[in-house]
Amino acid sequence: MWIDTHCHLDAAEFDTDRAAVVERARAAGVVQIVLPAVGRENFDTVRLLAHEHGFAYALGIHPLCVERAVDDDLRALSDALAEHRADPCLVAIGEIGLDHFVPGLDHARQERFYAEQLKLARRFELPVILHVRRSADTLLKHLRLTTVRGGIAHAFNGSEQQALAFVALGFKLGFGGAMTFERALQIRRLAQTLPAESIVLETDAPDIPPHWLYRTAAERAAGASSRNEPAELPRIAQTLAELRGVSLPTLAQLTSANARAALPGLA
Ligand SMILES: [Zn+2]
Repeated sequence: MWIDTHCHLDAAEFDTDRAAVVERARAAGVVQIVLPAVGRENFDTVRLLAHEHGFAYALGIHPLCVERAVDDDLRALSDALAEHRADPCLVAIGEIGLDHFVPGLDHARQERFYAEQLKLARRFELPVILHVRRSADTLLKHLRLTTVRGGIAHAFNGSEQQALAFVALGFKLGFGGAMTFERALQIRRLAQTLPAESIVLETDAPDIPPHWLYRTAAERAAGASSRNEPAELPRIAQTLAELRGVSLPTLAQLTSANARAALPGLA
C-alpha cells in the first residue's frame, strides 16, 4: 500500500482521463495521494478533487506562480485555511518555497510569499510541502526563523548536508522519478544513505517522468507523451528498494509511516 505524497491531479494533462488515472493508481496499490495547490485559482479544485476521490490536499501559492499572484491571494489563502481547517482532507500548506533555477524570476518577491506562508503554517499549525530548486539554504534560513511542524521537501535534489539540515528541522525528503535515472548520482546516493525515517515517495505527476516514460524534446515535439501518473509509484519505489536493499513491502510500510509522520492529517 503506497502513498503518493505529491501529485498535481488537477493538471490539464489529466483532463481527458482523470478517472482512469485514479483507477490505475488504486489498482497499483496507491491508497492515498496528496494534491498540492499552486495558487488561489486551484484552491477549490484540489479540495473538491480530494473529496471526490478520498485523497488529501494542501493549500498554498507555488513559487513559480508568485509572479502572477497578488498580495490579496495571501489573504485568500488565509481565509481558505480558516474555512477548511477542520476538513480532514486538508493536510498541509503547499506547494510553497523558492525556485532559484528558472531564470528571470523575482527572488525577493518569492521570498516574501514564502515567509508569509510559513507564518500561516505556524498560525494554523500545519506542516508545509516545499518546492526546493537551488534554494535549499534560503529555505532553511527561513525555517530557522519561523518554526513550523515540519513537512516534506519535495523532489529533493540538494546536498547531503542540506538534506540533513531539513531532517534536523523535522522534514522528510521526497523522492520520485528522478531517482530512476542511473546518471542521477547525487539523488541516488541520498536515496541510498539518508536515514530510513526521512524518506517519502512521490510522483509529482504529470511531471518528473521516471526513465521508462522519459521522451526527448524531439520525441515530445513529434507528439510522444512523457506524462507521469501516480500508478507509476510502485515501479519508482522498486528503484528505491534496490538502492536500499529492502523488500518492496518493507519499503511500502516504511514510506507510508514516514508520510503519515510528515503529514499527520493522513493518519
Ligand atoms: Zn509540485
